[in-house]
Amino acid sequence: MTRRGLMLQFAVLSRTRGRSPVPQSPVKASEEDNARVPEWLTAETDARSATPHADLRCTADRFIDLVIHSMPQGYEIPCSQVVVISDFSAFLRSRSDLLGRPALIEKARRSIAFTIDSTWPIYFNAEQYRRFSDAFETGGQKALLWVMVAVAGHELTHATGQAKESDGLLTELSLISRFMHEGKIPKTFAFDMNELKQQFVRTVLAENASIDKKRPE
Ligand SMILES: [Zn+2]
Repeated sequence: MTRRGLMLQFAVLSRTRGRSPVPQSPVKASEEDNARVPEWLTAETDARSATPHADLRCTADRFIDLVIHSMPQGYEIPCSQVVVISDFSAFLRSRSDLLGRPALIEKARRSIAFTIDSTWPIYFNAEQYRRFSDAFETGGQKALLWVMVAVAGHELTHATGQAKESDGLLTELSLISRFMHEGKIPKTFAFDMNELKQQFVRTVLAENASIDKKRPE
């Protein structure tokens, strides 16, 4: 697996669970570097892949709006439950309740998206996802939208109460597989599916080991 280039970082920020963000990224460094205007800026090719209409605005960030409006049926995320953090330090200043939880804060700071204690809302951290939206908008890498939709699906799983990291990863795996099958993420796109699968297996094993440890003898 590669550890350079774009990194996907997401975590559920419960006290006991979450995956370490940087070293396990399944996204490989991009090989595409052609700066062309993305189709979604110029053409309404498909209701779900076009720029959301003004009255569909969810957030102040149109990339996140696009992600939210691209969620497949059964994975809908209500606008009211989406928070875009454009300035992480300002976010922290507004959340004094988090100050006693430094590990959680550090994980959140390095994450593209996260939930707190596996509940709504889903937070999107602009300082981390900006390189994705930039590559999507100016690099023509449309597949990144669908990678982000899978990340949002992962967090949706946590936001609806499933705290286990393996549950989030399972949603993410299933969405990535589906988007590859549908051609939204082309086979040539630099995404390491095997790494994501291995990450899922490692997580399940770690969770099972933790259950065994807690079980009374
Ligand atoms: Zn997670």
